[in-house]
Amino acid sequence: VNIRRHKHWGWGYEDQLPSAAQLRETAAALASHLGLTVSELEWPVALEELELAPPRVTVPAGLSDICVSDDHARASHALGKSYADVVNGFRGRFQHPPDFVARPRDEREIERVLEWCAAETVAAIPYGGGTSVVGGVSPDVAPSYNGAVSIDLRALDRVLEVDPVSRAARIQAGAAGPALESQLGEQRLTLRHFPQSFEFSTLGGWIATRAAGHFATVLTHIEDFVESVRAITPAGVWASRRLPGSGAGVSPDRMLAGSEGVLGVITEAWVRVQPRPAHRHSAGVRFGSFQSGAECVRAISQSGLNPANCRLMDAREARTTMAGDGSHALLVLGFESVDHPVDASMARALEICAEHDGDAREGGHRGSSDAVSAWREAFLGAPYMRDVLVAMGVLSETFETAITWERFPEFHERVSMAAQQALREACPGAQGQLSCRFTHVYPDGPAVYYTVLAPARRGEEVEQWQAIKQAVSDVVIGEGGTITHHHAVGREHRRWYEKQRPGPFAAALRGAKAAVDPQGIMNPGVLIDPAR
Ligand SMILES: Cc1cc2nc3c(=O)[nH]c(=O)nc-3n(C[C@H](O)[C@H](O)[C@H](O)COP(=O)(O)OP(=O)(O)OC[C@H]3O[C@@H](n4cnc5c(N)ncnc54)[C@H](O)[C@@H]3O)c2cc1C
Repeated sequence: VNIRRHKHWGWGYEDQLPSAAQLRETAAALASHLGLTVSELEWPVALEELELAPPRVTVPAGLSDICVSDDHARASHALGKSYADVVNGFRGRFQHPPDFVARPRDEREIERVLEWCAAETVAAIPYGGGTSVVGGVSPDVAPSYNGAVSIDLRALDRVLEVDPVSRAARIQAGAAGPALESQLGEQRLTLRHFPQSFEFSTLGGWIATRAAGHFATVLTHIEDFVESVRAITPAGVWASRRLPGSGAGVSPDRMLAGSEGVLGVITEAWVRVQPRPAHRHSAGVRFGSFQSGAECVRAISQSGLNPANCRLMDAREARTTMAGDGSHALLVLGFESVDHPVDASMARALEICAEHDGDAREGGHRGSSDAVSAWREAFLGAPYMRDVLVAMGVLSETFETAITWERFPEFHERVSMAAQQALREACPGAQGQLSCRFTHVYPDGPAVYYTVLAPARRGEEVEQWQAIKQAVSDVVIGEGGTITHHHAVGREHRRWYEKQRPGPFAAALRGAKAAVDPQGIMNPGVLIDPAR
């Protein structure tokens, strides 16, 4: 199967690597923009210099036509894309590479891989775009497994059918954002699901992690787009019927949404699509403080206006994304519709902003519409910048959660204090930065997203990152938030997820897993332990 090769670490394709001069220039510009003192650039360990542990199992003859075990395949499937993954990849630390990578082209080939894994007690790890930030695709499995195979689904990337009457499309799970949108675009339709990882993440990965797109209200979590879903489990095919809604018991679609590869391999789904919006209006609104902006966002989220975009950034976040000058919080507001003008909705939203002392005359330091496009550019370019930050020795991490409005002010204060304290302890004497934004808003509360930037201690970045993550996550869970609003549980969030989920629910999930995956081969270690 001919697939354009990803870099073996970090973000992007192998053929997109910046030259040393470009990297130096970008690093210098970033350092001055962020106001961080950084050390000399370092360079990633080249693929040819990697020393991967030898495979524990070899590709069986019956699967040799779809499996590869070269260093590039094994290294590029060994890690996801969290900050720690990027650092480890950069430094050539691939502790748990899969023994080989399978690239099935159809469901029968997936079944054959799973049959072999079950017979040989080898872990099977579904892999979409590999953009997990929670250790979801790392084959870090218990020693009781004889090995691990990464099942790369990117050959399954077609839009198979479009139903223009009910406006739905049947799409294969390995389709990444651009491929999926360009095929739908031929029919003037869109899924309109744009997570920041859109370029590489896949429909199957979105469903398996309950991903959220960049729109702030209503249709944003992928499960709300899913009409029906189909998966191959070790015990057989799990396929639901296409329905606009159903009250028939626990939803089989919803049960696969968020299953993170532990129940089976999602192969395709019918998803709700729509024509491209014909009416759009966006604006940037300044607020004197993040808290006054938050009060305004609460009012908008409870108004029934349902803006497509409603991202509130604190002053630092607005400056980092070049949408503001750092003197004010900024709300990026947007409305869009396939059917009708949205000016009236925007006008009412701006009235609400004015009632909360929001200033819409000049949303950002470059003007209102400029502020919105600056934010959009920064949003899309951010994943590439992270690799540069690692090379220049800047620690960058994000934490995301959600909390109800009545608890938000105190929650935000405590989480911010914990993050700042953790930054001081993990990076003593250094100028760490914490910023915050709302990524999604609901009538009953915001999804809150924190970004941390600080000079890293070379060689100890992962330990610094772990200390900060631990401190912040403890407070998020202690204060009643969720350990993740949309990044999933994976391996990294398990210990906090275990405090959050009800005990009987864990038993039910374990029981469901035992029923469809009796040998416990599906992504062991993620979400829940198999009852082996
Ligand atoms: C820079 C960056 C920005 C991001 N922005 C967002 C964002 O805006 N919103 C958001 O929600 N997330 C975001 N993420 C997190 C990540 O992109 C999402 O979790 C995404 O849904 C993962 O999709 P993927 O195809 O890359 O899946 P992978 O990373 O390959 O896999 C994720 C999990 O799903 C399982 N899985 C994958 N495909 C299948 C399948 N077909 N069947 C069964 N299980 C499967 C894997 O085993 C793993 O447990 C971001 C990540 C990065 C690095």
